[in-house]
Amino acid sequence: MTNQTKASDFIRDIIAQDRKANKNEGRVITRFPPEPNGYLHIGHAKSICLNFEVAKENNGRCHLRFDDTNPTKEEEEYVQSIKEDVRWLGYDWGEHLFFASDYFDKLYEYGVHLIKTGKAYVCDLTADEIREYRGTLTEPGKESPYRKRSMAENLDLYERMRTGEFPDGTRVLRAKIDMASGNLNMRDPVIYRILHASHHRTGDSWCIYPMYDYTHPISDAVENISHSLCTLEFEDHRPLYDWTLDNLPVACHPQQIEFARLNLSFTVVSKRKLLRLVNEGFVDGWDDPRMPTLSGIRRRGYTPEAIRNFCERIGVAKRDSTVDVALLEHTVREDLNNRAPRSMAVLRPLKVVIENYPEGRVEELDAQNHPGNPDMGTRKVPFSRELYVERDDFMEEPPKKFYRLTPGREVRFRYAYFIKCERVVKDDKTGEIIELRCTYDSESRGGSAPDGRKVKATIHWVSAAHAIPAEIRLYDRLFVTENPEADKEKDFIENINSKSLEILTECRLEPSLANAAPGSLYQFERQGYFCADSKDSAAEKLVFNRTVTLRDSWAKIKGRGKS
Ligand code: ATP
Ligand code: MG
Repeated sequence: MTNQTKASDFIRDIIAQDRKANKNEGRVITRFPPEPNGYLHIGHAKSICLNFEVAKENNGRCHLRFDDTNPTKEEEEYVQSIKEDVRWLGYDWGEHLFFASDYFDKLYEYGVHLIKTGKAYVCDLTADEIREYRGTLTEPGKESPYRKRSMAENLDLYERMRTGEFPDGTRVLRAKIDMASGNLNMRDPVIYRILHASHHRTGDSWCIYPMYDYTHPISDAVENISHSLCTLEFEDHRPLYDWTLDNLPVACHPQQIEFARLNLSFTVVSKRKLLRLVNEGFVDGWDDPRMPTLSGIRRRGYTPEAIRNFCERIGVAKRDSTVDVALLEHTVREDLNNRAPRSMAVLRPLKVVIENYPEGRVEELDAQNHPGNPDMGTRKVPFSRELYVERDDFMEEPPKKFYRLTPGREVRFRYAYFIKCERVVKDDKTGEIIELRCTYDSESRGGSAPDGRKVKATIHWVSAAHAIPAEIRLYDRLFVTENPEADKEKDFIENINSKSLEILTECRLEPSLANAAPGSLYQFERQGYFCADSKDSAAEKLVFNRTVTLRDSWAKIKGRGKS
């Protein structure tokens, strides 16, 4: 979609009005502020798309700012992955890459300013005592006995907190606001804490670190942000955001606007929980193709265009809701349908011998790469006496409405011939079906019989001698329940789908796939969309991930109708 046709939403409306009123001289600067404590997930994509798109639509810009105030949980690895993921989504922050840690000096100085203006004090209560004194939603808090400390004493203690004189947790700097406020966030919130921990960027320069609620508005103001878009859980923090900026000599006071975060059915989007899946071995790393992380879905074969379309489709609203993961899958399917060339792959092979086809003969048949797009051209597919078909495409005693292979039945082999199943060969001992003996109608080349007779099914196949062996990984949803976090009494891990990964090692691909580059996407006819695995696939051993099935198979099971 072009910018002109993009649907509006309450945030875009606010920004349009602000521009009309020439607020901030019409400037629109947004930011995406991840904490580098994990990999980005599909929820973050919503925020990234919103911030970067809104900036683009208004000839503004969007900053990438790492909110790195929590040294014990943050790592350089996460910084790198976040940059990679934002770029992959198609967004460019240009030279506007920032770190909250770049502002540590300024943040400290502003602490001094607050003390000097009587708006902050050093408090010696323990964390537990602070909690106790804070009160509850129904009861006002109690003032700390340290609230009346003199400015000189506060300045001295704050300075000594910084120079490392005190152990962790012994003192904090608190904003002096209102212990009786109806908003708990305004009851003298902690703005600096002592933490003797090495920071991934500032090393051991600091042993006090600013809190998020204090850091965020200041970082926004320093960067001249016009609209600070964040998720709804920060709504109650907005008064503190505004208080902080109202009480500091900052040149700009950005407007915080909250929107609903993205929740997806059958999915968990919380870095803390995703980290557990990784650490406890339920998945094979942050980029496991079952993960809702951007690196996981990239490896799975989702494209940035599909993710951007999805984010546009779900829109931006003020109320929390859960989006059906089927919508995401549908968007991916739609995108891949347009771009993925078709090919044939047999996932669970069953040997077929065409008894009346000459031994040693090979025909190169023409196959279309895309039914709806002739520009994608054609390719040659070898046909010979021995082929593989899908085990599922044969039934010895078929139910009604099974039109595929069964003894005595003729079907069409895609791009090839009419082929009739004559006999089944079974293992003497186990009774297992090991081969089908068939005949072909040499007049039906290309898939139609000169006498006009019809067949009811067309199936895919590969030539046994030419086929390329491959491993194919079939993924299913990682959780079996629609809302894996619904039951607060229960660990969400209990809702994991133990069958979320099936590895097929005997697959056979048509030879044109021999050079499939890691990351390349295909539709394997009748089987779904697949992507050559970016980590494990190599010319010596091809590995494909199923990106998405051709249809919403869960909708059928649950009777929710077609997608
Ligand atoms: P998580 O809950 O996964 O830990 P977070 O909010 O702590 O996420 P941050 O790194 O602080 O993660 O998030 C960066 C930005 O992304 C924030 O502005 C946040 O509001 C936004 N964001 C995070 N999760 C979602 C979501 N599910 N939907 C929309 N925006 C989100
Ligand atoms: Mg956070």
